[in-house]
Amino acid sequence: MQITVLGSGSGGNCTCIVTENTCVLVDLGFGWRSLNRRLQEVGLGDQHIDAVLLTHGHSDHTKGIASFRSHSAAPIFANPGTQGEVSAMETIDGKENFCSNSPFAIGDLGIEAFPVSHDAAEPVGFRFSAEGIDGALATDLGELSPPVAAKLRGCDWLILESNHDEQMLKIGPYPWDVKQRVLSRLGHLSNQDLSGFLTGDFDGQASHILLAHLSRQNNDPDIALEHASEALSRQFPGSAEDHRLHLTYQNKPSVVLDF
Ligand SMILES: [Zn+2]
Ligand SMILES: [Zn+2]
Repeated sequence: MQITVLGSGSGGNCTCIVTENTCVLVDLGFGWRSLNRRLQEVGLGDQHIDAVLLTHGHSDHTKGIASFRSHSAAPIFANPGTQGEVSAMETIDGKENFCSNSPFAIGDLGIEAFPVSHDAAEPVGFRFSAEGIDGALATDLGELSPPVAAKLRGCDWLILESNHDEQMLKIGPYPWDVKQRVLSRLGHLSNQDLSGFLTGDFDGQASHILLAHLSRQNNDPDIALEHASEALSRQFPGSAEDHRLHLTYQNKPSVVLDF
């Protein structure tokens, strides 16, 4: 299984998961040209895309739908809430439905959606399994609740939100009501929230953790990494934890995880 976050942040999101015989994109936050540039950068320029999965309807996850559809007939999977939330989904062909907590498969890739707390119609994270490898993606969530933490157990890789630093957000440029929204349980996960998971419910199994959806205004990649690294070394003293952590970027793909 190969996993790459092609781009992450409020400017656009897309993740690519490739198995022996299946390639799936999670979210379509980039137009066709940008998507293909990113796929080419990680050596997947000629990759056939079997399906797209949408986490939720916010534009940074869906604004590439129309552009994608004019070049690819791959089915786009979204739950009913998200389908109703995205106007581009009303008119396109090739829509597929899924329900949370009901596992399904695309080719040899097992998929399960799980609800997350975020201010969208029906937001979800995803858990994936293929070839004996498990992984999960949870970004755009205001809190990492016990049911979500349960879905992250036993994973070999994780893509987790580390959106903002609470101190930077509080003194930063956002208006008060936007700050309240980001901080709320329907907003985004902070560096501090993620550290709480890494020193709490995290089972320590994942050998690679990608920090995703970093805010450009209210976070700093070094600070996000430092928080997560400090949390891991506190929870798992003596092991060299830094190798587990990777950043994701708005403008370029992350490292390619290869299992
Ligand atoms: Zn987002
Ligand atoms: Zn969102």
